[in-house]
Amino acid sequence: MVGGVGRRVAVIGGGIAGLAAAHRLRERAPHLDVVLFDQGERPGGKLRTVALAGGPVERGAESFLSGDPAGGPSAAVRLAEQVGLGDELVHPATAKAAVATGGGLLDLPAGTLMGIPAGEDPADRPSGRPLLAPGEDVTVGGLVRPRRGDLVVDRFVEPLLGGVYAGRADRLSLRMALPALADAAERSDTLTGAVRAALAARRVTPGAPVFSAVRGGMSRLVDAVAATLPDVRLGLPVRELHRHGAGWRLTVGSTRDPSTVEADGVILAVPAAPAARLLSTVDGVAGVPLGYASVALAALALPATKLPELSGFLVPATEGFAVKAVTFFDQKWSHLRRPGLTVVRASVGRAGEEQQLQRTDADLLDLVRDEVARLLGTDRLPDPVDAAVFRWGGGLPQYEPHHRDRVAALRATLAAHPAIAVAGAAYDGVGIPACVTSGWTAADALIHALEG
Ligand SMILES: Cc1cc2nc3c(=O)[nH]c(=O)nc-3n(C[C@H](O)[C@H](O)[C@H](O)COP(=O)(O)OP(=O)(O)OC[C@H]3O[C@@H](n4cnc5c(N)ncnc54)[C@H](O)[C@@H]3O)c2cc1C
Repeated sequence: MVGGVGRRVAVIGGGIAGLAAAHRLRERAPHLDVVLFDQGERPGGKLRTVALAGGPVERGAESFLSGDPAGGPSAAVRLAEQVGLGDELVHPATAKAAVATGGGLLDLPAGTLMGIPAGEDPADRPSGRPLLAPGEDVTVGGLVRPRRGDLVVDRFVEPLLGGVYAGRADRLSLRMALPALADAAERSDTLTGAVRAALAARRVTPGAPVFSAVRGGMSRLVDAVAATLPDVRLGLPVRELHRHGAGWRLTVGSTRDPSTVEADGVILAVPAAPAARLLSTVDGVAGVPLGYASVALAALALPATKLPELSGFLVPATEGFAVKAVTFFDQKWSHLRRPGLTVVRASVGRAGEEQQLQRTDADLLDLVRDEVARLLGTDRLPDPVDAAVFRWGGGLPQYEPHHRDRVAALRATLAAHPAIAVAGAAYDGVGIPACVTSGWTAADALIHALEG
């Protein structure tokens, strides 16, 4: 436990990573004065539940992985338990999903790793040496295309990756998107061997639900974590960060009315661009270069409508639609059902297709209604009772090969400065559990640095 009464840590960014970091600091070092800043009017970042047709719908993330790849509950489940929401976790009523192809919906094949089949393939000839050298990184497409063919990548792998990153298989880092496969590829000379090893390494409890959400919505998790923190300052962007004696000085607030805050330690839990701006005034440190994809989600509350018995479906880019995924929200989540309504949420915006988002909300809703109807093989969807568009400009990080090395290099340069750590989706993975773990790791590093 930290003994130094009166020492302050500033957590910049109140998304789930910053919240998890601040919560961990409070739990493990209660003598520290922890101040969390967020430029928004509410904490949570990409997690936010809003109302649609009088019920909750997610503006951003809808669920998180229940299990940790190393076994046991995921960090997100553990955080929920720590803030008293363990009994409020819910799981999909159906996890059965499909992929749109050639005018129909095809069930997603079982037993694959992110759409990569584990069966043998004549193209996957053993080369006599591992697929990857230690630490080597390639794109997911770079590894999979030559050994499984374009059809597997375009029809299954890319849409599944797209559901998480909105990203393209030929751009995304294998180490970031499929770390277990990258590790296995260092020991196997075939993709089949590597996929089987990665699947076998998963410590999943048979029959356990893969995904969890919070009854009532993700904002409950955000609010429950924020409620444990004594000093959350909202509507306050941190504009500058400077070394100051043995610690840091932050410039906070609007340009017209800025104030300064001093802190012994800093956790930067903001996306890559604001982090790079803040770090630009720290000698010898440069943020990690990272592109982001933009997405828009169109939520439609329809009068009760019969839909296929699925949680939703993915749409490969090769099918020629702007919509990339559709969730049958209330079919997937029974806690979100309301009598007489059917809620559908569709996402638009693959990396590189930003022009699709340059429409008004009304045009985007029309496009989504039209495309979803065509994908379902019907003429038209009924007129919605309520509808909304949620835009996430630059919302999803697009990790390119060797991102992990760039993050390690940043952390190494930060180690030469007073207590400072970076956390969040810009560094350690896009999923909520990865962001929570990232926040916890940053908090532990800061406690260690301040104790040192
Ligand atoms: C549409 C969408 C759907 C998703 N669905 C899922 C899902 O179902 N499951 C899943 O696991 N993941 C999902 N994700 C990914 C996941 O939600 C994010 O990766 C994760 O929430 C990011 O958390 P974070 O704390 O790193 O960053 P953010 O949530 O981006 O939080 C960063 C915070 O920093 C603040 N900030 C920025 N600059 C400053 C500054 N200068 N000063 C002060 N504050 C600042 C911002 O206001 C923001 O609150 C989804 C993401 C999107 C966009």
